[in-house]
Amino acid sequence: MSQTHRAVAIDGPAASGKSTVAKRLAESLGLVMVNSGAMYRAVTWQVLQEGIDPKNTAAVLEAMSRMRIDCDVKNSLSTISINDRLLTTEIRSAGVNEHVSKVASIPEVRDSLVTMQRDYLGEYDVVMEGRDIGSVVFPDTPFKLYISASEEVRAARRAKEGETDAVAKRDAEDSKRKASPLKVAEGSIVIDSSDLTIEDTVDAAREALIKLGWED
Ligand code: C5P
Repeated sequence: MSQTHRAVAIDGPAASGKSTVAKRLAESLGLVMVNSGAMYRAVTWQVLQEGIDPKNTAAVLEAMSRMRIDCDVKNSLSTISINDRLLTTEIRSAGVNEHVSKVASIPEVRDSLVTMQRDYLGEYDVVMEGRDIGSVVFPDTPFKLYISASEEVRAARRAKEGETDAVAKRDAEDSKRKASPLKVAEGSIVIDSSDLTIEDTVDAAREALIKLGWED
């Protein structure tokens, strides 16, 4: 891990509120917010674009070997492009939601994307959100949060956003996989956002970071 840059790791299940918290923390603490899920989504989107079966691991890896993946930063938020196409709303499609967990379960896919995730820290102080940030990507950072919420609350949040997303199914796949499953990383402070407003959740996250030794 870089000696000079700091990483805040935020993990949690789908629609737990971690992206919103990560964004707010990035703004208030002057960090770059990195959405690691967008990287798994982008690879999945490209695989689907090419008409490849996401369950065919060899074909997914062959396709990935041909992808030019560029991770960057714009307005303090991570961006991702594949073959020079900047990917934004398309990676939140129902098709991507359905297949991303399968693609993300492939160890070689994870290895490549984790390298890119770690590269951000060479240049920036980051708050990175995902499933394995505290456990695998930045296991040495002292600043680890795990944001949860009940299944009903999370499903309702996604529906409100107008997304077709079977969050329970995705969580089950993400938690049961062999490679870097979703779990509470050692040393994390857990925040249950089920009954909290966004503001309250962000406040709880700030307090947790201070408890973990964060200094401005
Ligand atoms: O965070 P988001 O819900 O957009 O992530 C989409 C999917 O990407 C997750 O369901 C999971 O399968 C995968 N993912 C992962 N590891 C991460 C971030 C996301 O496996 N660090």
